[in-house]
Amino acid sequence: MSSKPHAVVTGGAGFVGSHLVDSLLEDGFEVTSLDNFGSGRPKNLAHIESDAFDSLEHDVREPFPDLGDVDYVFHFASRASPKDFESHAVEIALTNSEGTHNALRYARDNDARAILASTSEVYGDPEVHPQHEEYNGSVNIRGPRAPYDESKRFSEALAVAFQQQYDIDIRTVRIFNTYGPRMRPDDGRVIPNFLSQALRGEDLTVYGDGTQTRSFCYVSDLVTGIREFADADPNTASGEVLNLGSTEEIEIRTLAKTILDVLDADSEIVHQDLPEDDPQVRRPDITRAKQLLGWEPTVSLEAGLERTLPQFEDELDVSVDTRQ
Ligand code: NAD
Ligand code: UDP
Repeated sequence: MSSKPHAVVTGGAGFVGSHLVDSLLEDGFEVTSLDNFGSGRPKNLAHIESDAFDSLEHDVREPFPDLGDVDYVFHFASRASPKDFESHAVEIALTNSEGTHNALRYARDNDARAILASTSEVYGDPEVHPQHEEYNGSVNIRGPRAPYDESKRFSEALAVAFQQQYDIDIRTVRIFNTYGPRMRPDDGRVIPNFLSQALRGEDLTVYGDGTQTRSFCYVSDLVTGIREFADADPNTASGEVLNLGSTEEIEIRTLAKTILDVLDADSEIVHQDLPEDDPQVRRPDITRAKQLLGWEPTVSLEAGLERTLPQFEDELDVSVDTRQ
């Protein structure tokens, strides 16, 4: 039997999941990815040569296969792009309910620690700014984002239920907007959209007047926070919920200009209708993460965009020299 700790990562072929897999392998873990390749891609894992890694095609809405001894279950499977919230509504709702049930049962039955990926979307269109973990949010339970938002809230409630009823160590991360290499150019989220549009010489589509804000975290910072939280002392971290994200808040219209500057591109900015229930502001209060882990993001938006660009150039088969 292997002496390495074994981590199961659901959604391991996705954007965040694949970076988490890399980080775990670098630190000597045996890692198994379970993914249905719905929004994830085998190419996100194609660089891995390690014998300590296994990638299985599996839908988390189905009970997990027997994978031997397991120490950590990172439950990151779920489509996350608002573009999918209506077209894949039922799949998303069930991934974050049945899928989370399967993940938590699997962690419980294997005596493993569970790390659950929640989201800033549990705060909805927030009336408290910035958002701290004690804020209960303002979600439209009947709106177009509800299948995602409410199923993530249910995921958290199920985690509480498992903690109350079973002796199980579950840690929940509320992830705020994160970006970086391996996002799909057609993902639909704002940074992949703007990068793809700028590289193709197309207009950048700002929804609404662009005064709505987000706070964008580079993926390596996020993964560092997730790993530190997963490894933290159970006395302080078991059962906790933690915001992880950048505190650099930016209006979307300014993000568009920043991307044009970083790429030295001359696309026009055009405005399209603001989607229903689009949150007007979003920025995490990360006091708790600072206190518990000493964690805070280190990569600026400009630096993160520069690191993200090469993959988009490759995939779109265009080249921009951003350093001239
Ligand atoms: P992503 O779409 O790149 O990754 C999600 C992965 O989960 C994909 O590989 C997909 O194929 C897989 N998946 C989806 N449903 C599945 C199912 N039923 N069974 C098995 N696999 C399934 O998105 P991401 O940005 O990497 O998001 C990863 C996690 O982080 C999600 O849980 C998401 O809700 C959460 N999150 C991400 C962000 C962000 O800004 N990136 C913000 C908040 C929360
Ligand atoms: N957005 C935009 N143009 C796009 C895509 C998104 O203006 O092409 C806006 C969107 O309306 C939202 C913000 O950018 O206000 C972030 O959207 P995203 O889909 O990335 O994630 P969200 O934070 O809404 O989950």
